[in-house]
Amino acid sequence: MPGGCAAWYNNVNILLINGRKYCFGGKGTIMIYMMSACLAGCACRYDGGSCTRDWAKAAARAKECVLCCPEQLGGLGTPREPAELTGDGMEVLRGGARVMTASGRDVTRSFLLGAYRALALARHNGVELAVLKSRSPSCGCAEVYDGTFSGALCGRDGVTAALLNHNGIECVTEDEFERRQNDGQERADTGN
Ligand code: SF4
Repeated sequence: MPGGCAAWYNNVNILLINGRKYCFGGKGTIMIYMMSACLAGCACRYDGGSCTRDWAKAAARAKECVLCCPEQLGGLGTPREPAELTGDGMEVLRGGARVMTASGRDVTRSFLLGAYRALALARHNGVELAVLKSRSPSCGCAEVYDGTFSGALCGRDGVTAALLNHNGIECVTEDEFERRQNDGQERADTGN
C-alpha cells in the first residue's frame, strides 16, 4: 500500500499509512482495537481520576479504538472502593478466586459482568487487540496487585484481560502498545 509501513507484532499487524495507524486482523481486514477508557482521559478510575496518555486520547478522538471500562460496564460507580483479586483473573472466571474491596466487600459479580460485557463489545466490533491499563484488577495484563492491599504486585491477569485472552483477543498494556507504536514509527521513518 503506498505510503504504508507494515510492522508485524505477534499475530496482529499494525500498519502506518500517512502517519495514521491501522490494525489488520487475521483475514486482512482493517480492525478497530479496544482500549481501557481511563487511558483516553475518561475519569472512570476507582478514585474518580484517569490515567491519560496523549496518544490514547488522540486515538480515541480519531475513532481508531473502542473505549471500554469493564468496572463501569459491570455496574460499579465512580469513585468506588479499590478492589484486588485473591487469585488469577482466570481463576475468578472459573469460580476459584474472588474480587474483594479493601473493606472486605465481595464485588466478584460486578467484575464478571463487566468482563463479559467487554467481551461482547469486542466481538460486536471485530476487535482482535485490546490495549489495557496495567495493574488493574480488571484490565491488568500479567501483573496486578496481589490481594493484600499492600502495593505488592504479582504475575496475574485481571478478570477482563483473562476473559479476552481466553477468547482469542490479544491483550497488551499501554506501555507495550506504546513501545510497538514507537517501533512501527521508526520502521516507517527508516523505510525498513
Ligand atoms: Fe481503567 Fe479498566 Fe479500571 Fe476502567 S476498569 S478504570 S478502564 S483500568
